[in-house]
Amino acid sequence: MSGAAETERDQAVLMDDYEAGELAIEFDDKEPEDLLAWAFERFHPRLAIVTSFQIDTLVLIDMACQINRDVRVITVDTGRLPQETHDLIDRVRQKYGIEVEVRYPEAAHVEKMVRRNGMNLFRESVEKRLLCCHIRKVLPLQKALEDLDAWVTGLRRDQWATRSNIRKIDLDHDHGGIVKLNPLADWTHDDVWAYVREYDVPFHPLYEQGFTSLGCVPCTRPIQPGEDNRAGRWWWETNAPKECGMHCPIETGGFEHEVHAILGDQVDLKNLRD
Ligand code: SF4
Repeated sequence: MSGAAETERDQAVLMDDYEAGELAIEFDDKEPEDLLAWAFERFHPRLAIVTSFQIDTLVLIDMACQINRDVRVITVDTGRLPQETHDLIDRVRQKYGIEVEVRYPEAAHVEKMVRRNGMNLFRESVEKRLLCCHIRKVLPLQKALEDLDAWVTGLRRDQWATRSNIRKIDLDHDHGGIVKLNPLADWTHDDVWAYVREYDVPFHPLYEQGFTSLGCVPCTRPIQPGEDNRAGRWWWETNAPKECGMHCPIETGGFEHEVHAILGDQVDLKNLRD
């Protein structure tokens, strides 16, 4: 079966935009646990929480473990993460008795990207930063999502302008039409931290050093008083999206040529442009 035909089959089995819209309305005022319980019922085991170990997805892991300890948790190790993130992965494994599926970028892609562009290419231009995010994060995520019918994220509407309209249930047309669940869409920063305190959820120690968003070491720093929560990401860039392409399509701005040079025939330029 061709990739296109397989995608059509999978979408037919999952749900269409009409049903997704109906469910989004139905669940919009429901608790995150209600949505997770429904998702387990409908999609497990082709359902996973995808996390970079920001606090929001830690809350979701805690909630999911109350429902089903077989919860699948997937993360992408870009190769540039801080030691504290690796330590937290093990704390989560131990506290909840769950496995964490750690996915990695293709070594050959990283090698070629670095050989052609240097270790710290992300400092040179927005295009090269997006290239690095694409090779190290977006492609491993895309590969992980190919085996799922639904993924759970910690996105919230109050995080960033590009996230202000997210629904709790959506079809992810950027990833083959699988279902994307955002159970905390209507939660606030304070709601999340209240839950963490009440249920003693493990959290990343860099939050206590002024970080409000976590990621790769060279691209993340603490914010200053009065700065936006996403200001600690790629702070040297101006007029660029504070996104890596995992959660929303990015105007690529011309890195297709370099991606093509690195990935060769494997590259799907349509995906890059969508
Ligand atoms: Fe590369 Fe920085 Fe993106 Fe990490 S956050 S993948 S180091 S550009």
